[in-house]
Amino acid sequence: MSSQRALGVAVVGTGKMGADHVRRLSDVISGARVTAVVDIDAERAKSLADGIEGCTAYTDPAVAMAAQDVDAVLIASPGPAHEAALIEALRRDLPVLCEKPLTPDAAAALRVLEAEQRLGHRRVQVGFMRRYDADYLKLKKVLDDGELGRTLMLHQRHRNPAMPEWFTEEMLINDSVVHEMDVTRWLLDQEITAVTVHKPAPSAKAPAGMSDPQFVLFETESGALVGVEIFGHCGFGYQVHAEAVCEHGTVGIGAEHEPLVTTGGRWGGRVTPDYLERFQDAYDREVQAWVDATRRGEVTGPSIWDGYAAAAVCEAGVLSQREGRRVEVELVERPALYG
Ligand code: NAD
Repeated sequence: MSSQRALGVAVVGTGKMGADHVRRLSDVISGARVTAVVDIDAERAKSLADGIEGCTAYTDPAVAMAAQDVDAVLIASPGPAHEAALIEALRRDLPVLCEKPLTPDAAAALRVLEAEQRLGHRRVQVGFMRRYDADYLKLKKVLDDGELGRTLMLHQRHRNPAMPEWFTEEMLINDSVVHEMDVTRWLLDQEITAVTVHKPAPSAKAPAGMSDPQFVLFETESGALVGVEIFGHCGFGYQVHAEAVCEHGTVGIGAEHEPLVTTGGRWGGRVTPDYLERFQDAYDREVQAWVDATRRGEVTGPSIWDGYAAAAVCEAGVLSQREGRRVEVELVERPALYG
């Protein structure tokens, strides 16, 4: 397509994330416009489309992808719906930005990986947006510069004020900790080899059927140990912290983002309420990078391999969570397409 023309994007799934991406594509970033919104909830899609010039509402992703004015697809439906939309987009050789998780399980991720391999070139960027966050980029740079030596351990904390009612215990692993899985693989530039999930005595705020918080331990190829606290119902706000312990020092991010206020004999500040606010800049950079690369005819950012590897770690994590034992991660051989 001409680099002068705005990229026509179909947004599949117009819930919390999808609606935010529609706003971002329309009002925040450059080079794209939303030409289609798709949701199985026809009313939701129509009310969004009505507010955007030249945008059509659909209920079937395949029909939207066939439209003349759709050049690329942003998938923001729930994880279990991703595979069908990805396979259809790849069948049409359309560029895709797919929200995490690529798919909820490794077998489905592998089917998508095989579909992209059959195409023979990369088409999909996976929405692991922490790779675009300014703090994480600084942390990555310090580690890559090498002055601190090898990374021996990573401490990570991921706290949410509360989860929606439909959020299951398994989703603590495959919907939340999946971010730390990708961050770990990306920061350390290696695969995670085993997962062990530990459950402390639950908080009184934990919903029935969910042990919350949980502590997840990853082992990696180089022998590094990575601890992740996942707390779904901490009650006080949204926090994400990461600290790397290296041979010659430590480097950490995410202490607090808000201004520090001192008054009346106290100091303190506000805790970010949710991920949309905490990672707003990262989402903006992620989507802009996808649009820019697509308009250049390139594919950058986290790949289907990254999505598959995370899904395989999730599968091991969910098994460990269920059976209370250490579970090794099984990966197929990495195809040449993913370098
Ligand atoms: P949501 O429930 O708010 O919205 C999902 C929407 O998709 C709903 O409107 C639903 O009607 C629609 N839908 C369901 N099945 C569909 C299908 N087959 N085709 C088209 N539309 C369909 O969910 P959400 O919180 O917006 O999450 C959507 C995706 O974004 C998930 O993959 C989730 O993991 C991801 N997410 C990512 C982040 C992040 O930080 N990157 C944060 C939250 C959610």
